[in-house]
Amino acid sequence: MENPFENAMQQLSKAASIMNLDKNIHEILKQPDRVLTVSIPVKMDNGEVKVFTGFRSQYNDSLGPYKGGIRYHWNVTPDEVKALSFWMMIKCATVNIPMGGGKGGIIVNPKELSESELEKLSRGFIRKIWRNIGSDKDVPAPDVYTTPQIMAWMRDEYEKLLGKSDPGVITGKPIEQGGSEGRSFSTAQGGVYCVQELAKKMNWDPSQTAVSVQGYGNAGSFMAKILHELGFKIVAASDSKGGVYKEDGFNPEELFKHKQESGSVLGFKDTKEITNEEILELDTDILVPAALENVITDKNANNIKAKAVVELANGPTTPKADEILKEKGVTVVPDVLANAGGVTVSYFEWDQNVKSEHWSEEEVLEKLERIMVDAFDQVWETKEKYGVDMRTAAFVKAIERVGEKISF
Ligand code: NAD
Repeated sequence: MENPFENAMQQLSKAASIMNLDKNIHEILKQPDRVLTVSIPVKMDNGEVKVFTGFRSQYNDSLGPYKGGIRYHWNVTPDEVKALSFWMMIKCATVNIPMGGGKGGIIVNPKELSESELEKLSRGFIRKIWRNIGSDKDVPAPDVYTTPQIMAWMRDEYEKLLGKSDPGVITGKPIEQGGSEGRSFSTAQGGVYCVQELAKKMNWDPSQTAVSVQGYGNAGSFMAKILHELGFKIVAASDSKGGVYKEDGFNPEELFKHKQESGSVLGFKDTKEITNEEILELDTDILVPAALENVITDKNANNIKAKAVVELANGPTTPKADEILKEKGVTVVPDVLANAGGVTVSYFEWDQNVKSEHWSEEEVLEKLERIMVDAFDQVWETKEKYGVDMRTAAFVKAIERVGEKISF
């Protein structure tokens, strides 16, 4: 198993050497500012107390309050949380929003907890970290297996301890509790703006551009739907059970309905069944990994036939696979750019909360488009300037922005 924090530090070193980064700044960026480790006792429904372990890594706040999700998963480790908080710093800086990098996690299988145990765990975590968070310090959000309801409990617990209202302490809240319009599909929408910019650079005609999507959850299914509305041809999609393929394309909304009714994309009319390995190697123009990390590796990178990979998932391509794809001339729009629409609308939520405003969906999308298009263009320019891939270019641009604000 690759250590995610070591991978992150390799990416940092690569960017540092290309941009000739000041070695003091490089040293500072090798460690998070702080990693909180807390024990959270929860009285379970059977009357026994169980003690869970939680983490919050605050990587760097030079650009603004730490920002990043909290995940509930049995495999959470301090190194994973540190790496994810580093990548959040890079992501926020890539799209140039005034937020730093943070991430949290609790070692737990939330599916084994009742609703009341989950609420006690979420409130207990906040009781342990509340002095270190706040709308001006650190702003958590949902991540793997955490929901708007969990965010609402956390906000409520925080405000009780603080003794006053501070809705901007947490994002990803339900709309009626201060959440933003557009958040549910913002990650996909940000990815769509990247695809549109890429298509312009490459002179691709949407009706002739075939797209395959691995992972048909929140990010992947919205991406397929919006691209289809813009005239792109969605030819394949998959979920944890397998995938479906149709050379001349299908309607992704019908596929979504089929998945809701039957529990899977499998068995969708007029399509051929394929595996989750095959979907990555199809002869399409754009491949969108939107499920798990480490799916494009040195074992299959040579078989990738897509002209571009647009990473909606976090970390779908390993560093070795990146090298192979670069050699093959495959353009990778990296996660820190392609899926940054999510954190950008989270930042809008925070901004609306601290200003006591509520923006319309139209206003949110207009602002999101401007941010994504600017970021895409700047990463593209940096890639051309240094002759590197887009991931390295995004890192260089982000580290430039963070580095300028670090004083020592
Ligand atoms: P989700 O749980 O809604 O969907 C995940 C999808 O992946 C499901 O369709 C599931 O069936 C499928 N899947 C699971 N195992 C699979 C496998 N082995 N092969 C193929 N498909 C598999 O999750 P999501 O919110 O859409 O997130 C997907 C990815 O996007 C994650 O990497 C996440 O970190 C990233 N991401 C999401 C957001 C967001 O706002 N939702 C923001 C940034 C990044």
